[in-house]
Amino acid sequence: MDSITETSALNGNRSDALVRARQVCQSYDKGGAGSLVVLDKVDVTLDPGEIVGLLGRSGSGKSTLLRAIAGLIQPSGGTVEFCGRPVAGPSAGVAVVFQSFALFPWLTVLENVELGLEAQGVAPAERRKRALAAIDLIGLDGFESAYPKELSGGMRQRVGLARALVVHPKVLLMDEPFSALDVLTAETLRTDLLDLWCEGRMPIEAILMVTHNIEEAVLMCDRILLFGSNPGRVIAELRVELPQPRNRLDPAFRALVD
Ligand code: ADP
Ligand code: MG
Repeated sequence: MDSITETSALNGNRSDALVRARQVCQSYDKGGAGSLVVLDKVDVTLDPGEIVGLLGRSGSGKSTLLRAIAGLIQPSGGTVEFCGRPVAGPSAGVAVVFQSFALFPWLTVLENVELGLEAQGVAPAERRKRALAAIDLIGLDGFESAYPKELSGGMRQRVGLARALVVHPKVLLMDEPFSALDVLTAETLRTDLLDLWCEGRMPIEAILMVTHNIEEAVLMCDRILLFGSNPGRVIAELRVELPQPRNRLDPAFRALVD
């Protein structure tokens, strides 16, 4: 770690950004009791090749910001651009992994993953091929016909990841992807993801990850945006100098954990 900077200095003057959120505001009506300001003029950029962490306390508006970037909500103020174009709704270029996995319990692993491609009108044979490749990539080989309830939390989140990656998005947004998992499972999944990322095997260009876990942010991210609460805004930015390789878990030890 080598520098902490005032947020405006590093955050956002380049033109090749994949995501650029400018002055994003979000308020919720409290039904006669005024409004709750959740986001206050948030600026975030995400450049190709980066893993950026959004670190903040529970309730600080991290998920709200992520949803705005994903096009799942239209913020009350400010703009969000993806590849230089305003975000008007969900797009295939931006995929989301949720804390709670958000799988369909009545669908198998393969069907859950294929679903990501159905919306894009990909032909069934191609869908199957790509879904199997994503399942294989994320370490779910052999579980194609399993239902979510038959899987551990870590495996379910792998399905969530495969479903996000199968569309080959440019940007992967992850909302506390490991926080529903026990520490060992979380560590294994983090390590696997970092391995894939460092080996260039992830079909994506950048990751924005929400977390409230500072160690996780430091371990995974090139840049961390510290989010303050009430209202949520970026109060500091930290660049992390990572040792190479990023994977710090010794493979022999890892084999014992698995
Ligand atoms: P975080 O992800 O940092 O925990 P959230 O973005 O989920 O924070 O929520 C920030 C605040 O906004 C919380 O106080 C939450 O209760 C409120 N909030 C989030 N979504 C809604 C909504 N749809 N309607 C009203 N309030 C909401
Ligand atoms: Mg949240």
